[in-house]
Amino acid sequence: MPLRDIIGQDNAVKALNAMLGKEDINGAYLFLGPKGVGKFSAGIEFAKAINCAKLGPDACGECVSCKKMEPTRAKARGSCGRNTEPAVVSVAGECIDSLNHPDLFIIRKEEGASFIKIDRIRDVIYQASLKPYEARKKIFIIAEAEDMNEESQNALLKILEEPRENQIFILTTSAVSGILPTVFSRCKVVKFNLLSQARIQEILINRQGFNEEEAVLFSRMALGSPGRAIAFKENDEIRERDRMLNDFFLRKRAILREEACDDKKYNDLDASLGMLLSWYRDLLVSKFTQDRNIFLNADRIEEIFSYSARFSADKLERDISSVMKTMNYIRRNINPKMALFNMAIELERQ
Ligand SMILES: [Zn+2]
Repeated sequence: MPLRDIIGQDNAVKALNAMLGKEDINGAYLFLGPKGVGKFSAGIEFAKAINCAKLGPDACGECVSCKKMEPTRAKARGSCGRNTEPAVVSVAGECIDSLNHPDLFIIRKEEGASFIKIDRIRDVIYQASLKPYEARKKIFIIAEAEDMNEESQNALLKILEEPRENQIFILTTSAVSGILPTVFSRCKVVKFNLLSQARIQEILINRQGFNEEEAVLFSRMALGSPGRAIAFKENDEIRERDRMLNDFFLRKRAILREEACDDKKYNDLDASLGMLLSWYRDLLVSKFTQDRNIFLNADRIEEIFSYSARFSADKLERDISSVMKTMNYIRRNINPKMALFNMAIELERQ
């Protein structure tokens, strides 16, 4: 998949094509934009194009270099040989193993770790001191670069300050506040944006094999991020949403039972609360419009309309802020069980 096939990022692709066309490629790049919109895929395609035998504004996809940089994807989770570095899991949960090309390095936080380990950055610094094995340029992709702590970023800064001609750094981030200004200032910034629902549907159907019904539902919930839509399906988020609704909306009295507020039963509590939030958002929206195309919970629109009259807009607004407050607590690691319990009480209050 060359750069031109990246869907919905026309400005970013145009900017990269222009640099490739002028052979104006050097130093470090920062691909900046929301999570799951294709920054990492674009990084791989950019790397391919830089080293493609047919010098041009995009990768040919056919030369030896392009073929070797083609990510091999193992769809099944857990089968990607996590012990073999560098192997990574993309936003979509696919395993991408780029060991095929000795001059392409992918660095990202290991599963369960809080930061990208400083040893990985030391390894990058060592590798950067060596010439490329076979490519014109050695390429380092640091995915979600905000996962580097200050020590790691400062270590990396030393090589960013004295870039060599034969090496390129591509950092991706959705949280620019986590990037040191000194690192930021060394990078050329390429901006990525959220995608329209129609574009996401196109990706889900044509590239991910979703059926139409799934594509409609997940593209609405994705809020502009195809990676999010894919993760929703893979993590069975709809089931998590229904569990949330069951405990906190349909059977409110269940809060008196301990297990309703057991945070441990959710895979990703933040995501599950996000689903609950989307539910209250839809209820509020149903007070003002009959347009069914703007509801996020496309599979439960009938219920949304049937519940709509039971709640005042004021009450729904309070509920929304209660869920948001809880998400905030959980992000700050404040006792999740207590936060859920308090939320349940607030949601029950008329
Ligand atoms: Zn090529």
